[in-house]
Order: sequence, then C-alpha cells, then structure tokens
Amino acid sequence: MRPRREISISRKHMAELAGHAERAGALESCALLLGAEGAVRDILFADNVDPRPEQSFSIAPDRLLGAYRAAEERGLEVVGIFHSHPTSGAAPSDTDMRFMRTNPVVWVIYSGQTKEFRAHVAPEGGRGGTETVTVVVSGAEGAGA
Ligand SMILES: [Zn+2]
Repeated sequence: MRPRREISISRKHMAELAGHAERAGALESCALLLGAEGAVRDILFADNVDPRPEQSFSIAPDRLLGAYRAAEERGLEVVGIFHSHPTSGAAPSDTDMRFMRTNPVVWVIYSGQTKEFRAHVAPEGGRGGTETVTVVVSGAEGAGA
C-alpha cells in the first residue's frame, strides 16, 4: 500500500481524538484510524501500553491485529496511526520516525501544547526523515457513524 499525502478527518473525529488525548493528561494516548481512500471513517481507541507512557507510546500487538481484522470485516483499512504529544509539538520524535518506517501509514500527531493536529508519513524508498501529510477537515459531520 502506497502512503498517501493527504488524510481527511471529520470535525467530530478530530474532537474525539483531541478529547482522548486530553483525558490522558501527561501520558501519550494512541488510536488506530480506520477508513478508505485516505478518509478516516472510524476510530479504534487503544491503551498506551508503553513502559514509559510520558514519552512514548505502544499499542498491544493483539489490539493492532484486532484493528486490522475489524477493518477488513468492514471493508476498510487501517489508514492511520494516531498518538499525542502531551507537552511538546506535533512533530514526530526520533522514535516515531523509526517506527514510521516499519508502519508506513499516515501518522497523525496531536499536540497537547499547541492543540494542533499534524500528519506525517515515512518517505518511500527507506530515505530518512518524514514527509508532511495534509490534514483535510471534512465537513461531513458524523459521517459513517
Ligand atoms: Zn510521538
């Protein structure tokens, strides 16, 4: 699957993701974004099982597999991985960049500091760094709910 340069998320889903992040306080929060053709249709919230959840996040392998199964059953795919940075900006950390290369979907990061969403993807061909993905706010209020 080729990474996309654009991801579309409804206002409602963005509010849910921001709420999920804010409720986690000083800990990073995470979720899987299900959708199709670069548009998020549903969110699967996940627990951050990382041993250092203040500075990193991990999604349990069975949760990850379950998400792929749920997506397939509904004719969707995992279009993105969401996590939050409670006390820093929405740019990917070095750890994020490393994992982005092995999970080449769109990574959506919410900053608890600036309250903004940014999306990134690992460039094709294993080059270093990341490429910015445009977050399109879709007007369809509650689409697919
Ligand atoms: Zn991060």
